[in-house]
Amino acid sequence: DGRLQARRALERDLRTALLRGELEVHYQLQLDARGEEPVGVEALARWHHHERGWVPAEDFISVAEDTGLILPLGEQVLRTACAQAAAWPKVRVSVNLSPVQFRHGDLVELVRSALQDTGLDPTRLELEITERVLLTDTAGVLATLGRLRDLGVRIAMDDFGTGYSSLSYLQKFPFDTIKIDQSFVGGLEAQSEADAIVRAVLGLGRSLGMRTCAEGVETAGQLAFLQAEGCDEVQGYYLSRPLPAADIGRLLDPPMPAPATEAPEPPIGWAPATSAS
Ligand code: C2E
Ligand code: MG
Ligand code: MG
Repeated sequence: DGRLQARRALERDLRTALLRGELEVHYQLQLDARGEEPVGVEALARWHHHERGWVPAEDFISVAEDTGLILPLGEQVLRTACAQAAAWPKVRVSVNLSPVQFRHGDLVELVRSALQDTGLDPTRLELEITERVLLTDTAGVLATLGRLRDLGVRIAMDDFGTGYSSLSYLQKFPFDTIKIDQSFVGGLEAQSEADAIVRAVLGLGRSLGMRTCAEGVETAGQLAFLQAEGCDEVQGYYLSRPLPAADIGRLLDPPMPAPATEAPEPPIGWAPATSAS
């Protein structure tokens, strides 16, 4: 009874927070295999509750999915992330989609209008789905994924390997990216089984022509293993935590370096600054 009441209270507060626009979107860098060059960012919903502080995403997302609030929440995250990415240099933005968004509302129209309203190039948007999306009405979901792909956006299989039949879905849809679940990445070095599984998934990605992204990279050793085995992209606390948009903007677009002391000949019409700084 206590748990139910707490959940109801969370639902009520989430509804109010959504209405007031109190939800935030943070972003986590996805880097090339060397762990140096940003290639994308993953948009992650964040909620700071006035009494509880930061509520874990998994907690409020599950409440939102049970109550239908995931529809306005998902739309807010999608529109915010597209608008934000349009203002950044050419990195991709990944947005997580819930199974509920496939069952209710017109997801294809929502994505089309978010792209149109923000002017974001569709090739810079990646939509992440988990196997949960494909569990029911697989044929209908595959048709929707095809229509989303027709818009020009990319589709990623998130948390790969944790479901019941991840492999069969790779056969049914040509995903652009496979995201290797952090439970496998976290076991690298410590468990030989994890090494073997990650190596196999990377080989699978190569054979199927799908990019691979390892989630939850937390150590230098894990990064070295992934590099050696040919993983395409990496994401995790070792490289960068999810951060507010302003902080990510500074990482993506660092200020121009100070001019070198031996400056090249200025072009004609160039006026040097008068103050010595
Ligand atoms: P996900 O899509 O697999 O996102 C990755 C999660 O792993 C994020 O948790 C991220 O903060 C966390 N993470 C990243 N690097 C590391 C690491 O090195 N170590 C560890 N231990 N964790 C790491 P977060 O933000 O709490 O989100 C949890 C899940 O909630 C997400 O998993 C996603 O399924 C869902 N979620 C978050 N935002 C949204 C959203 O806007 N819409 C939907 N539908 N789901 C969302
Ligand atoms: Mg994700
Ligand atoms: Mg994941």
